[in-house]
Amino acid sequence: MKINRKLLADWDRRYLWHPFTQMREWERGVPLIIERGQGPYLFDSDGTRYLDGVSSIWVNIHGHRHRTLDRALTRQLGRVAHSTLLGLSNPPAIRLARELIRIAPRGLTRVFFSDDGSTAVEVALKMALQYWQQCGRRAGRKRTFVHLELSYHGDTLGAVSVGGVPLFHERFKPLLFPSLSVPAPYCYRCPVKLKYPSCALACLAPLEQVLKRRQRDIAGLIIEPLVQAAAGMITAPRGYLAAVRELCTRYDVLLIADEVATGFGRTGRMFACQHEGVTPDLMAISKGLTGGYLPLAATLTTEAVYRAFLGEYADWKTFCHGHSYTGNPLGCAVALANLEVFRRARTMVKLRPKITALARFLRPFAQLPCVGEVRQRGFMVGIELVQDRRTKAPYPPEDRVGHRVAMEARRRGLLIRPLGNVVVLMPPLAARIGELRRMTALLYESIRSVTRADRGA
Ligand SMILES: *Cc1c(COP(=O)(O)O)cnc(C)c1O
Repeated sequence: MKINRKLLADWDRRYLWHPFTQMREWERGVPLIIERGQGPYLFDSDGTRYLDGVSSIWVNIHGHRHRTLDRALTRQLGRVAHSTLLGLSNPPAIRLARELIRIAPRGLTRVFFSDDGSTAVEVALKMALQYWQQCGRRAGRKRTFVHLELSYHGDTLGAVSVGGVPLFHERFKPLLFPSLSVPAPYCYRCPVKLKYPSCALACLAPLEQVLKRRQRDIAGLIIEPLVQAAAGMITAPRGYLAAVRELCTRYDVLLIADEVATGFGRTGRMFACQHEGVTPDLMAISKGLTGGYLPLAATLTTEAVYRAFLGEYADWKTFCHGHSYTGNPLGCAVALANLEVFRRARTMVKLRPKITALARFLRPFAQLPCVGEVRQRGFMVGIELVQDRRTKAPYPPEDRVGHRVAMEARRRGLLIRPLGNVVVLMPPLAARIGELRRMTALLYESIRSVTRADRGA
């Protein structure tokens, strides 16, 4: 039997259940099946070429089919594909842990591997909880977490418990543990109705109140540093993260930085925390860790947290958590190659002029009638579409304006995935200036075409 494109499409609709997808609609459509990639491009089963405008959902870094990454995987395959970290070790996991500590914010000294962003967050939450249980004087009292409104930390239940996107999280409430939520620094729709910088970060006051009042039972605060990505690329004002760090220190609360989206150069520094000289107590990383090749994640922490888990065997201070594929050698080998390319290709240095160019290419977007705000932090871009620029009235969700822009972009050869009314662009860090120009030009036309049709209607 020849497995052609038509047959694959049939099988897809018959056997697969896609994430975050209304499958009734999907079953009626024709799936776009990606067969291969090269650099910033993806190719479908007809051979049609698309620019990968969201880095395959925020993971790809150096482009598809990178020689160094491909070779690292093949070389590791010639040794062993997998062996466990439970009771054993392996060279790629050891070497990667060392490399991660070298590039991480100063003060992070230990690496605990897991499988994806959600599990790295689960690990951070459980470590924080157990840390306080083993901390003597306040033993066991500190067990609550604080999160920001609109935050997204993954789809497993612990991560959902500290999540703040109602559309994703509300439904699962019966399964969640309670968590304290505080306003997000969403300047375009400011929670305290002020303007930066004259606001002097007034949105931090509710956070300080919560920490002050509840510090005896708060274990940690979890935050997406600088950019609340899934919320719609909401960029925090300068100084916000450093102020949060200070508050956590003052009120004796662990700071958990979820760098799953922002890590590995996306914001213009290797980690977003480094923009404000912040060292979190725990840091979750995943998406870009393997350059977009394989699922792998890690939770980094400080020596202070690590030491609270040391003791005699019968003290039962062991951290009882682990996964079948923890420290998978293939994932770790390709992650090492990813970091090697960062160094050899001087990815972060070359990124600087590209970030400036991207900002220039985005400038005309602000003039489009339905663009409320263009937000950029490094290579993370969110364009919030609104029905009325003056009142900032959002498009009703059922209008699916972001989705329609994405479909329009696809017809023009650019693959993107929106977040509600926010159009997202997150190119691979390796994208060249010409490719950035092309991506933004296609995006501009797509937004104009969709919103113009709306206004004509
Ligand atoms: C994507 C994401 C996660 C979840 O990662 P998965 O690998 O999808 O489980 C967690 N936190 C942030 C900030 C993310 O963007």
